[in-house]
Amino acid sequence: MPRLLIKHCRTIMTGLAGDLARHSGHDILVEDGTITAIGDLDTPANTPVMDAKGCIAYPGWVNTHHHLFQSLLKGEAGGLNQSLGAWLAATPYRYRAAFDEQTFRVAARVGLVELLRSGCTTVADHHYLYWPGMPFDSADILFEEASALGIRFVLCRGGATQTRGLEENLPQALRPEKFDSWMADMQRLTSRYHQASETAMRQVVMAPTSSLHSTTPEQLRECADLARRSGIRLHSHLSETVDYLDAARSKFAMTPVEFCAEYGWTGPDVWFAHLVKLLPQEIALLGATGTGIAHCPQSNGRLGSGIADIIGLEQAGVKISLGVDGAGSNEAADMISETHAAWLMQRARKGMLATPRYDGGQWEGGGDAATVDDVIRWGTSGGAAVLGLNGTGSLAPGMAADIALYQLDDPRYFGLHDPAIAPVVSGGRPGLRALLCAGQVVMENDNLPGVDLAQLELDAASAVIQLQTRAGLRR
Ligand SMILES: [Zn+2]
Repeated sequence: MPRLLIKHCRTIMTGLAGDLARHSGHDILVEDGTITAIGDLDTPANTPVMDAKGCIAYPGWVNTHHHLFQSLLKGEAGGLNQSLGAWLAATPYRYRAAFDEQTFRVAARVGLVELLRSGCTTVADHHYLYWPGMPFDSADILFEEASALGIRFVLCRGGATQTRGLEENLPQALRPEKFDSWMADMQRLTSRYHQASETAMRQVVMAPTSSLHSTTPEQLRECADLARRSGIRLHSHLSETVDYLDAARSKFAMTPVEFCAEYGWTGPDVWFAHLVKLLPQEIALLGATGTGIAHCPQSNGRLGSGIADIIGLEQAGVKISLGVDGAGSNEAADMISETHAAWLMQRARKGMLATPRYDGGQWEGGGDAATVDDVIRWGTSGGAAVLGLNGTGSLAPGMAADIALYQLDDPRYFGLHDPAIAPVVSGGRPGLRALLCAGQVVMENDNLPGVDLAQLELDAASAVIQLQTRAGLRR
């Protein structure tokens, strides 16, 4: 569709900061995948019109941290009430070897469909399901599934060259890779899929599974060098719990962020998931280097890890974005739930840290900690900046036409004084009049063409049974 005029939006939220956060116009003109005008526009000749009467326009959400394979591990009983370390052993690691091509494909599809239905148009998947001699190419499957649904896809290719020294006894599907073959695969994936453009539909990122635990320090430096020579970005997990501080101190006599900086893992082309437990000097170092974060408040809450200091990180200069993390630690891995949680939890965090007083002195609550505009910006233009997709993530002329048109026809949105803030303040799932990615209408009237949700539900249920059987939890 080369040209489309979206008319009569109730409000247009741009994803930008300050006075630019809300556009005064009501129409958006899209030409060849790009927004060319926003305002109260006349209809050009021979231009199809989409009536968005009553709808709120948002930029498509940008999810900067996910593990799509976990979309079939939601609420897994063994890890449901565990903190990070025990949960990793009970849920993702225990089931890793149980995935085959078909179950993996179903997991990816469930996760992507869930995200699209929340208005998400860009997904960065931290994919670490790799072992030597894997019988299927999971990267191919991820790009295929994303492409069939019309969503932008960033493959953060995970991997590890070491476990905690148990390799000999591990089954093949849990063994670490050799560094050289992992780097060779990085080069293969980069040349096959990576597009350098700021509106790329496909990108590849260097993403060791854990910055501290997955490689030797020398390999960490070497893979950063290779990433920069290849023109791709760098991503990993960092400081999700206090365990990272303990490990970095005992193994390297440094803080986790100092360790990353020492081995080339800070800078504007790097972003980390979580950053929940940081020392003040670590926040300063991340800010001074322009490093980014994928803030995952629901997963951090679900695993009892804590609440990252997003306000402090942003003030220090850290680039803020939002990620849903894997559905194995977030049973609502969609961007509306995540932004709703981000809004609430920054306020809860500030309020929680206020010390109660009984001496008549003042104490501050957290009601001003994160505005709705902040949260929309983090989840859209903030995510685009973290990924380097600077031609996406906001609604403005010249930007890619990634547009969610929400219709607020559920009673949970009735009575709102300002309907434009509904997706963030009320959560739930607002219906989509339409969702556009790069100007293509990928959802219309709340319908994903080509996706049979009833069939997907059956496929997911039978895949869960297969995984439980292969993991030895069902006979
Ligand atoms: Zn993660």
